[in-house]
Amino acid sequence: MPLKCKLCRKTVSSVSLVDCAECGEKVCRDCSYTCVMCDTLLCESCTYFCESCGEPLCPECAIVTGDEDRPHVLCEECNEEMEEDSLEETEMNSHYRPFQRNFQRW
Ligand SMILES: [Zn+2]
Ligand SMILES: [Zn+2]
Ligand SMILES: [Zn+2]
Ligand SMILES: [Zn+2]
Repeated sequence: MPLKCKLCRKTVSSVSLVDCAECGEKVCRDCSYTCVMCDTLLCESCTYFCESCGEPLCPECAIVTGDEDRPHVLCEECNEEMEEDSLEETEMNSHYRPFQRNFQRW
């Protein structure tokens, strides 16, 4: 018996449908994503995408920062990179940098 994908409404055979691990909906492969971190299969509406590298993430692996209205989603790797960057920045800003040439003079 043919089934319909919950997202795109495409009629597909039951073997090509996947169950979303988050909401349990049956979606076609085109509408499903696999979390890059833990290989969890998710439907499109439950998948998070890293803002930096664009990789699909499950809600558990996605690192969501920022406020509720404008959340920022990052994967673990990109989040670590961001943290390193901001650490470097705060360190640099707390020191006098006499050799910083392209720093705008007041
Ligand atoms: Zn679909
Ligand atoms: Zn889902
Ligand atoms: Zn995951
Ligand atoms: Zn990423």
